[in-house]
Amino acid sequence: MGKLLVAAKRLLCRLPLGLGMVEFCKKCGQRQPVVWTARDELWLAVTGSPHGVLCPGCFDKAAEAKGLFLRWKPSVEGNRRALLNGG
Ligand SMILES: [Zn+2]
Repeated sequence: MGKLLVAAKRLLCRLPLGLGMVEFCKKCGQRQPVVWTARDELWLAVTGSPHGVLCPGCFDKAAEAKGLFLRWKPSVEGNRRALLNGG
């Protein structure tokens, strides 16, 4: 099931904004403000489960509670050519 979630998240990253599924954080109830993913091992270490949805803020707080201090960095999925062509 974890692999399916990852595959779904990867697919979601490739969809233009507005066409993706709307997800809500299971902790605070906030709608996901950005499309984001975490590697399986990090997600599992922080949440203890391969399932679920957390917003970046709640995931960050949960990681800190486990002694993991995250550094967030944006990346491009899909149209990497836009990076090279300047948009
Ligand atoms: Zn949240």
